[in-house]
Amino acid sequence: MSKNIDGYQPETLAVHAGVEPDPITGAIMTPIYQTSTYAQKDVGVHTGYEYSRTDNPTRTALQKSLATLEGGDFALSFSSGMAAIDTLLRLVKPGEHVISGNDVYGGTFRLFDKILQGYGIEFDFVDTADPNAVAATIKDNTRLVWLETPTNPMLGLTDIAAIAELTQARGVWLGVDNTFASPILQQPLALGADFVLHSTTKYIGGHSDAVGGAIILNDEELYGRLKFLQNAVGAVPGPMDCFLTLRGIKTLAIRMERHSENGLKVAQFLTDHTAVSQVIYPGLDTHPQYELAQRQMKMGGGMISFILHGGEAAARHLANTTDLFTLAESLGGVESLIELPAPMTHASVADSPLAVDPGLVRISVGIENADDLINDLAQALHNLPQ
Ligand SMILES: *Cc1c(COP(=O)(O)O)cnc(C)c1O
Repeated sequence: MSKNIDGYQPETLAVHAGVEPDPITGAIMTPIYQTSTYAQKDVGVHTGYEYSRTDNPTRTALQKSLATLEGGDFALSFSSGMAAIDTLLRLVKPGEHVISGNDVYGGTFRLFDKILQGYGIEFDFVDTADPNAVAATIKDNTRLVWLETPTNPMLGLTDIAAIAELTQARGVWLGVDNTFASPILQQPLALGADFVLHSTTKYIGGHSDAVGGAIILNDEELYGRLKFLQNAVGAVPGPMDCFLTLRGIKTLAIRMERHSENGLKVAQFLTDHTAVSQVIYPGLDTHPQYELAQRQMKMGGGMISFILHGGEAAARHLANTTDLFTLAESLGGVESLIELPAPMTHASVADSPLAVDPGLVRISVGIENADDLINDLAQALHNLPQ
């Protein structure tokens, strides 16, 4: 018997979606089906599972959970966010054109610019915050518009509904990388996107212990094509990683609330600090797109970028002197992290138009006590060389 989860709120869905008691033992948590293959009763007579590249029950549970949380009909899980993006881009053929945001994840830019362009797919990188810029770039061979909101690391926003109106009118697909917001803060499919992408490595998994990716969508025909690609290309996650990600999802809603509450407090503290020249956070009314953030996102999330008066030297010193904020790449885990995008996450875009200010600091605010986090930043900022 499947649980009927229709009509429940996100906190409830995060706990229950996709998770059924195991039919054999009644185990209430989906087991880690650590198997590559499945016994068949007769040639071609099987339970729906034949080989774990094609399907695995732990992955099925994760995919159901992800589809439900994004309000989509279908989800496919991958071994990483990049594997999911690469598989999705195989829907675009040589000779076709893709419009990408110009402040996308560095690895996404690298895949588009350094790899897929070499296979004959054309790319233009534009500021998707400006719908007119996107409209002016759409051509007869445009197949896909790809965007992130909020972006990484500049935390710029794009009006998803406004871009969806454009793409739908022109028969172009819209893909939204929703990694920074998570489905708790923003649901792009409801705003008209065709595909939602996640690096589940980040907020969805939430514990910095598993790398993974996912695509969520409503169109059954496109789902069939992606499912074929998932199996044919083969970048699937293992059952253990699916289990860890599912386990993380159960607390996604309450984690996003705490990330956002802490994010706002830390952003306010940084704004008031004399060593800080600029703070970028969608939950602050000083964000240039605050009105859009209020309309499109439930809360501000846990990502903050800021610049110090002391520039790169001060930024490097700060990143080396925090205690609770660990100097590391990645984001979205329960623990707070600090990094400098220019030499770290965005090194792959150093010589491109996406290059960022060398003094930019990005923090992923965790779910620790907000005062502890603020005190840690205060002591590190106090000790900056003048
Ligand atoms: C991390 C990230 C990716 C890539 O995901 P991996 O799981 O690291 O492959 C894509 N988009 C965004 C916004 C990310 O933060």
